[in-house]
Amino acid sequence: MEKAKQTEIPKQRRIVLVPCPYQGHITPMLQLATFLHTVAGFSITIAHTRFNSPNASNFPHFQFVYLDDGIAAQEAIPTDLIAVLLELNVNCRDSFEAEMCKLMAAEAEDSSEVIAGVIHDEIMFFCEEIASDLKLRSFILRTTSAATSLARMALVRLNDDGMDPIPKLHPLRFKDLPISLTADFTKYSRLMKKTYNMETPTTAKAIIWNTMEWLEDSIMAKIRNKSTVPIFPIGPLHRIISAQTSVLKEDFNCLSWLDEQADNVVIYVAMGSIASLNEKAFGEMAWGLANSQQPFLWVVQPGAIHGSEWIEALPKGFREAIGGRGYIVKWAPQKQVLAHRAVGGFWSHCGWNSSMESLSEGVPMLCSPCFGDQKVNARYLSYVWRVGIQLENGLEREEIEKGIRRLMVGEESKEMRERAKNFKEKIEAYVLKVEDQGYSHTYLTELVSLLCSS
Ligand code: UDP
Repeated sequence: MEKAKQTEIPKQRRIVLVPCPYQGHITPMLQLATFLHTVAGFSITIAHTRFNSPNASNFPHFQFVYLDDGIAAQEAIPTDLIAVLLELNVNCRDSFEAEMCKLMAAEAEDSSEVIAGVIHDEIMFFCEEIASDLKLRSFILRTTSAATSLARMALVRLNDDGMDPIPKLHPLRFKDLPISLTADFTKYSRLMKKTYNMETPTTAKAIIWNTMEWLEDSIMAKIRNKSTVPIFPIGPLHRIISAQTSVLKEDFNCLSWLDEQADNVVIYVAMGSIASLNEKAFGEMAWGLANSQQPFLWVVQPGAIHGSEWIEALPKGFREAIGGRGYIVKWAPQKQVLAHRAVGGFWSHCGWNSSMESLSEGVPMLCSPCFGDQKVNARYLSYVWRVGIQLENGLEREEIEKGIRRLMVGEESKEMRERAKNFKEKIEAYVLKVEDQGYSHTYLTELVSLLCSS
């Protein structure tokens, strides 16, 4: 009897998390890992590519193991992202399997711990098959909006059947569909068919989604209708838990510069971690900013301007034109910047993290989507939620200048700011409710229960 009781001691549960190695994907995965560790008590292993890996010393309680990705360092901002993502799914397989086997061997030796499952980014789809072969449960993390997933499914079908998806995708227009029109559609379609799209069978146990059900309720309802597995919309993760997830070094000096500016006058400009521009577009951005007469804080990531290391391609006369009105950094503490009282607008590529971070701080947006999900998000931000203005014709100095003025001053700006503030309040109330209930009755609790079951 005594003996039987001893064997009932609950085992410590370990989760293995596999991010896709780009900042917009790394951040929510590490936030989820931090939640699962600090709030729910799981042991954590992060299986990361060697390339673009976050600073492990920011997560002293996590175990990090590294995957052989075969990606050259100079591809940090890749010219053919889809090709790199497909390559990662081939190159990382063997080392991931080897690391999982090591963990399982350790588990067999130490009977106090059990691997409760593998959570992988939807893009790192190779993990699902390996987990299934090893008889481990797998879970998919989605780091884009639900609207993007629906549009991707329609896009792949359009390619297969020659169907016109647009009427069924209102309010999306053809140009809002989540792919660059210059990208190789065959490769894109291969990638999308490999990520679970609700219509293909999956061995995954659930989809974890960094979005809010109330924000995307009608889309989520359509997706739930098709899905064969439970869905947990647990976002916005950046408000649920904080973690030091930045791969690049943040320049905190820009916060002191912001301190010197008046309330709501600065436009913050950042295009995320993988968007890149040619020199002409960069020049148009610079003149649009200069001519708007608005103070600005501009992130230009090294390597983001084709053919330049950093900002050598700034046009002649630009610095004289702006005087002290502008501040350029290589990488900013974006969440703190958006929360600063001086920031009144965000000119963004509309990545999903940036969009949620801006909504959470009530900052209206100037939308310049480059590719993929950014185009869907931009359409929702500008047309549906009406907290942004979309630059419809690419990067052209006069349209930029006008867009900045419309965003920052006048009646339209006031109304947009009011709507953005409403989102901030709704998100604050939602997060407070989640915290007040000790995460009970929420998707987070349901997810933790599932991870603890069997
Ligand atoms: N980010 C940052 N500093 C910067 C620019 C971006 O910390 O100077 C962060 C931003 O807060 C966001 C992430 O990088 O969390 C970018 O993710 P997003 O999904 O917006 O875009 P992606 O990089 O995937 O295109």
